[in-house]
Amino acid sequence: MSSMARSSPTAAAARPTAVTSPPSVAQPSQRYDGAGPFPAGADAPAAPRGIGERLYVVVTGVIVVAPFLALGLAGWLLWGSLIHPADVLLALVLYVVTGLGVTVGFHRGLTHGGYQSVRPVRVALAVAGSLSFQGDVVGWVATHRRHHAFTDRPGDPHSPYRYGTQLRGQLRGLAHAHVGWLFRNDPTCARRYAPDLLADRDIRAVSRAFPALCVLTLALPFVLGWAIGGTWQRALTALLWAGLVRVALLHHVTWSVNSLCHMIGSRPFRTRRHDRATNLWPLALLSFGESWHNLHHADPTSARHGVDRGQIDPSAAVIRLFERVGWVYDVRWPTPERVTARRR
Ligand SMILES: [Zn+2]
Ligand SMILES: [Zn+2]
Repeated sequence: MSSMARSSPTAAAARPTAVTSPPSVAQPSQRYDGAGPFPAGADAPAAPRGIGERLYVVVTGVIVVAPFLALGLAGWLLWGSLIHPADVLLALVLYVVTGLGVTVGFHRGLTHGGYQSVRPVRVALAVAGSLSFQGDVVGWVATHRRHHAFTDRPGDPHSPYRYGTQLRGQLRGLAHAHVGWLFRNDPTCARRYAPDLLADRDIRAVSRAFPALCVLTLALPFVLGWAIGGTWQRALTALLWAGLVRVALLHHVTWSVNSLCHMIGSRPFRTRRHDRATNLWPLALLSFGESWHNLHHADPTSARHGVDRGQIDPSAAVIRLFERVGWVYDVRWPTPERVTARRR
């Protein structure tokens, strides 16, 4: 989920802004007791709902629902053996490339400045992450920095504790943190949360190209499927599996880090007040190490999230590889003292 020559007026300068900036909704935060529902008016004041916003909700709905429907269709096609090894291989490659674009690029690099990178790599990772259909890079980073600034308190864009800690509120909160928040009129100000990215011309260009990259991420498997199989049918099955199903799977894995990784799992590290981020091992591989979310919230700039024995962290392995070949530098690897200091 990043070199910053002119890259970003140093991520170091931006990082503290993002993580420690004073709450813009300080009032409601102070009234939050950590158990009840978030007080009313915790979010930015709602803008009037115009045609543009309704269109936004419809488009978000299509992006959320369509890949899921495709999953059903995919299952049905699978029943008729309409899946080919090439589709699976393509889906795997695109899942890994776009997933690492989000975790290594958007998250650990651009959002948290866990390392610096040479410019082509910074841009390539931003493009790879944009192919995941999770929003434009600047918006993604701004929203995520806001999540860290207000974790599980009023102001957090996707906390499962929004509706309180009673069973009913928790279930509602889980749905909200997983996908419901995408439909809320709760914009995050990029000028406030991602000024470093807005100052980077290349990143702004990648951000603007987001709609085109959405087309590309589906066109790619379609064209490759056609090139490999030579028929329209093969192009369509590749689009289904390596396009839509791959997008749906990564969506739900990423969203699970927002929802499940704040509710279920272990909490061996100390986090800030109200912050209930957890480590959830079953998601470690699929999320490329992002489900070691408790450590991440305890030490957000650390380039490695899985710091304990046996905690698989593919994103950290990729950052290590990039460091060896000179693509990234100034990596913030966790030292044993740093990790120990954060244990409960
Ligand atoms: Zn979190
Ligand atoms: Zn983070």
